[in-house]
Amino acid sequence: MTDLAADRPAAGRYAYVTLVTNTDYALGARALLRSLRLTGTEADLVVLHTGGVTAEALAPLSALGVRLVRTELLPVSPAFAEAHARSRLHTAAPFTKGGKPPFHTPLDNFAKLRLWQLDYARVVFIDADALVLRNVDRLFGYPEFCAAPNVYESLGDFHRMNSGVFTARPSQATFAAMLASLDTPGAFWRRTDQTFLQHFFPDWHGLPVFDNMLQYVWFNLPELWDWRAIRILHFQYEKPWQQHDKAEALAPLIDLWRAYAGDGTVPDVAQLPVP
Ligand code: UDP
Ligand code: MN
Repeated sequence: MTDLAADRPAAGRYAYVTLVTNTDYALGARALLRSLRLTGTEADLVVLHTGGVTAEALAPLSALGVRLVRTELLPVSPAFAEAHARSRLHTAAPFTKGGKPPFHTPLDNFAKLRLWQLDYARVVFIDADALVLRNVDRLFGYPEFCAAPNVYESLGDFHRMNSGVFTARPSQATFAAMLASLDTPGAFWRRTDQTFLQHFFPDWHGLPVFDNMLQYVWFNLPELWDWRAIRILHFQYEKPWQQHDKAEALAPLIDLWRAYAGDGTVPDVAQLPVP
């Protein structure tokens, strides 16, 4: 695994992988990894982390028995880094539908592509701001590349995919092809890895929305909400561990996240309120 340094060997051929480049996302990852443990999966759990995360922030992840893999952000050109710098991106392609937390660095998202360098046959990537509410091991039987549509507002959302959950087959050849296609003169991926992955895999397979249910569905498309069907809940835009202006509207979801982020029992989702 060139460019990657793991704290132990891989355990098996399948892994759930998430990415953490700073202390804030380590908080999210702990809740996610605990939720994965509670599903009873036997796949390896992997955290790709960069120099931005302290040993103190990683310790609670290690305590869950996950494999920590140290890596670096991608070796992109100065022009690429400039075009995707937070202030530049927020000006060129403003977020009008929701807010991004102050600790979100757009350029860091591209480090997800490092998972193609990992020593596993199959990977399911999950953003650090998600919770797995029921076992999703069936996704290891799915081809590359599967992702759910980016649905949180209207029918038009079905044109786009969301890169918070996807299936992949690590391969150095794929990784090299991605790097070559990513950083070309004038490249601008307005929604970073998401726009890039949709371009790189134009024939992406659609997963059900229940494999990546976005939190805004709770108030924008409540008829789609079904606690018994949701397998992965994804807190896109504002994060449940920050203070934000939608916290009241999303209170039952934030309470659920807090239960997973703590050490106690987690509620039976069938008992939770409906929107
Ligand atoms: N991420 C990270 N540091 C950053 C930005 C992103 O570690 O500064 C990782 C983290 O796993 C996060 C994912 O990349 O969940 C995608 O970012 P985010 O979830 O904030 O995007 P959204 O789901 O809101 O589009
Ligand atoms: Mn996310």
